Amino acid sequence: MTTPLTEEDRNAIRERYRYERDKRIRKDGNQQYLQPEGRFASLLDDPYVQVAPREPVNDEVDVLVVGAGFAGLVTGARLKQAGVNNVRLIDKAGDVGGVWYWNRYPGAMCDTAAMIYLPLLEETGTVPSAKYVLAPEIHAHAKRIATTFNLYDNALFSTGITAITLDESISRYIVNTDRGDTIRARFLAMGPGPLHRPKLPGIPGIHDFAGHAFHTSRWDYDYTGGDPTGALMEKLADKRVGIIGTGATSVQCIPHLSRAAKDLFVFQRTPSAIDTRNNHPIDKEWFGSLQPGWQNEWLMNFTTLQTMGFAEKDLVMDGWTDISLRIRDRVIEMVKAGSQVGPETLLRAYEESDDEKMSEIRARVDSIVHDQATADALKPWYRQLCKRPCFHDEYLQSFNNSNTHLIDTDGKGVERIDETGVWVNGVHYELDCLVIASGFEVGTPYTRRSGYDVVGRNGVSLGEYWADGMRSLHGIHVHNFPNLFVLGPSQGANLISNIPHNYVANSVVIASTIAHAISTGASEIEVTETAENDWLTFITSTQRGLRGGEDCTPGYYNNEGGTMGRREQLNSSGHPGGPVAYFEYIEQWRTSGEFAGLVFR
Ligand code: NDP
Repeated sequence: MTTPLTEEDRNAIRERYRYERDKRIRKDGNQQYLQPEGRFASLLDDPYVQVAPREPVNDEVDVLVVGAGFAGLVTGARLKQAGVNNVRLIDKAGDVGGVWYWNRYPGAMCDTAAMIYLPLLEETGTVPSAKYVLAPEIHAHAKRIATTFNLYDNALFSTGITAITLDESISRYIVNTDRGDTIRARFLAMGPGPLHRPKLPGIPGIHDFAGHAFHTSRWDYDYTGGDPTGALMEKLADKRVGIIGTGATSVQCIPHLSRAAKDLFVFQRTPSAIDTRNNHPIDKEWFGSLQPGWQNEWLMNFTTLQTMGFAEKDLVMDGWTDISLRIRDRVIEMVKAGSQVGPETLLRAYEESDDEKMSEIRARVDSIVHDQATADALKPWYRQLCKRPCFHDEYLQSFNNSNTHLIDTDGKGVERIDETGVWVNGVHYELDCLVIASGFEVGTPYTRRSGYDVVGRNGVSLGEYWADGMRSLHGIHVHNFPNLFVLGPSQGANLISNIPHNYVANSVVIASTIAHAISTGASEIEVTETAENDWLTFITSTQRGLRGGEDCTPGYYNNEGGTMGRREQLNSSGHPGGPVAYFEYIEQWRTSGEFAGLVFR
């Protein structure tokens, strides 16, 4: 435990946060990133399958589920449970899994506990091997959902959608693909996932590098050796490897690169906050003692505690709930000592808890990393939730290996890249291989990320309709787009610490709504303009969530430090009462059977 912080300490911390932020703010914000072009044009391709030729499909389905990640899989499963069987999954990837299909970098694992992250554990009879599980186990679970609910039947993989157009005369969406298919879909469920289109860092000369280079989302094991389970990448033993980026992905693969490479150069713009992992195997006997319905109980328990609610027990007990519990307990103490319940008390409790937490995280760096200058450079100076928090028990330790060199760019980023390597602060680092860990597009237009537009009623396109921000009822239904259902956290629960929970809840609602339409013979379901507007007014009525403002270094959680205008607010808002309030509300909305806000024609 660190010693309690004084007011002077806290002021100094705030000043340092501002300094670190100001240093990193760039005029080009989110525009700094590059799309995969030139030597990186193949980045969007699928290296994991040999695509077999097939005849174009020309047919009709009841529900076309776009995307076969957890969003699509869970929705497919719920539809089957609701008796809707003519369902087809379609995905660009060669199999189900979404991000867990694409991301096969060494060390990839989920930071959210498997007991709550892996959907439908009870329905599929699955016991996770550990509290946090590696990517191959998550991918296997995705396949298990598909098998359990017969979602492979009728699915189309390695198939990219090129256009979706509503034909109002027959109340069907006409879906065209890059395989020449024409599918008529009565209902569409859109689950493309929030982080799927890789982006490249805007570094001058990035296309000039003549050595080997790849993005983490398409790890090249042919070049590195090793495999996704973490086997030693023996082909790197004589290689000088560089990695650009130190986000959640990089934190997980750096220990593996450090173990394998002759020399590893880690090019850092902003350090991640690394809390403990404390992973442990799951005891099968204990698991067997859980009562039916346990997973929903765990989901709600985590969500309640992660959003400062009350529960008798903390079932998951990890770094996600830790900060919220500290804030909650502080509020209680402050109120007991006479403070008013309100935004001021909440803000004070949040700041004090965060200062305490981040001081512990910085102290942890000192306790692990031997070289003082390296330790100092690895300390994060911003509030914990300004960036994706990370959890790892080997990342910081890697910097004690003599072959692993932290090249801190003091917030400026890599200066430039040339044929033979990377420049930082006028120093050239010669490299054989460059790993790009610069993440995925966030906040760019929906249609750019999907690669196609959806044309709805009266020729209105989704791209145009959402140009100034997302518009929906519950994050699911969009006016002008009858029979279309959006699968995602925004404008619903907006729970980012456990993305699949959003799908688990909304998929039941979607399946019930579609089953209702089919059973009543309705050909169209559409949200009214009024209901959509009312929902938007409701969800933007408070600024839920403490974004940190000037205490945050830029990143995709805060529009890269740019203004958070109406568009950004719409895209990142959720139920003002928080995720638990949303989950309770939507369950009531569904079970009432009234489908308020929707019109069935
Ligand atoms: P991120 O966007 O989180 O990280 C990108 C990294 O690249 C940052 O460190 C960024 O620095 C750096 N960078 C960008 N441009 C430059 C530049 N010009 N020079 C130097 N560095 C640069 O991507 P990730 O792939 O790491 O993670 C994406 C998301 O995927 C995570 O936030 C998380 O939500 C998810 N994920 C989840 C996991 C899980 O456990 N479930 C595991 C892995 C990822 P800066 O910070 O300064 O912008």
